[in-house]
Amino acid sequence: MSTLEEQCKNQKKDFTPKIKNKHKPVSYWSEKDIQNNRIVDAFVIIFRTQGCSWALKSGCSMCGYFNDSAWSKVSDDDLLIQFQTAMEKYKNEPFVKIFTSGSFLDDIEIPKNIRKKILSKLYETADKISVESRPEYITDKKIKQIKEINNSKTFEVGIGLETADDNIRKNCLNKGFTFNDYKKAVKILKKQKVNIKTYVLIKPPFITEKESIDDAISTVDKIKNITDIISFNPVNVQRNTYVSFLWNRKQYRPAWLFSVVDILKESKKNAKDKLIKCDIVGGGTIRGAHNCKNCDSSFLKAISDFSLNQKTSIFKGLDCNCKEKWLDVIDIENLGFGSLVNMYG
Ligand code: SF4
Ligand SMILES: [Zn+2]
Repeated sequence: MSTLEEQCKNQKKDFTPKIKNKHKPVSYWSEKDIQNNRIVDAFVIIFRTQGCSWALKSGCSMCGYFNDSAWSKVSDDDLLIQFQTAMEKYKNEPFVKIFTSGSFLDDIEIPKNIRKKILSKLYETADKISVESRPEYITDKKIKQIKEINNSKTFEVGIGLETADDNIRKNCLNKGFTFNDYKKAVKILKKQKVNIKTYVLIKPPFITEKESIDDAISTVDKIKNITDIISFNPVNVQRNTYVSFLWNRKQYRPAWLFSVVDILKESKKNAKDKLIKCDIVGGGTIRGAHNCKNCDSSFLKAISDFSLNQKTSIFKGLDCNCKEKWLDVIDIENLGFGSLVNMYG
């Protein structure tokens, strides 16, 4: 086990899940999203499962999704009750997004028969269903079985690649798979005409602001021809993670919103025909991507509008006095080996 892997495992050693009720989903709500270039209503369900199998072994350095997981067996009945509970609020939205704080295609989290029941029911009304999975659970056989449920509707799988750089993925994130594993999974999905969404992380630990901008832009370049959607996730500091350990020691600062805007502009220029989104959890707080209190809300609004309308012109005119600080970070952080986080809050 590598040192980072051990560190990620250690963060969870005293963890006890707070919510014990396995009949309640983590959350479910309605929101807007894009489908076929149109803004549509989407319904989101987050199932409470046993948890991501990788997180149960050690987990990724920035991921605190396990805080919402049960960490013990969630039975088929529990999962179906969770589904029924969420469905009481479902208003036939045409787009349904399913999250599990892990992998929907992992049989340990969601057994095959339950997966089939959930998808069959939702496809009675939904035109598109989106799920998430690590690449190792994406097999020909499994995808074929899913497509047989309803081949005429859209199925989408989101993969948390985070970066195309194997070194960063392994040594900063402890992600536990390679760029090649991702490409193999993408090939299987493409063959079966499944839509692919790729999550790209902004500001992994141990790299500087400038390195993170460069990494995100170069990742887009490497995946733009194989993914349908690129979804950026700036790291937010989640409880009981290795990133929160670093953050508490003032050795980590989440991304600047100036950096996020730069990445979005450059990515749209480079991958014009791709849908590019950015979901900022905890934006404008010290645990999430932020600039300063005077400009955070205007930046966050522009980023969220861009995610729906794809127009980079929305970023025109965004400015603030704190830009100087950000430029200083970009210029000199590489020389300070990341030790300037304290100075620039
Ligand atoms: S980021 Fe994904 S793969 Fe990594 S621990 Fe979290 S849920 Fe599991
Ligand atoms: Zn500002």
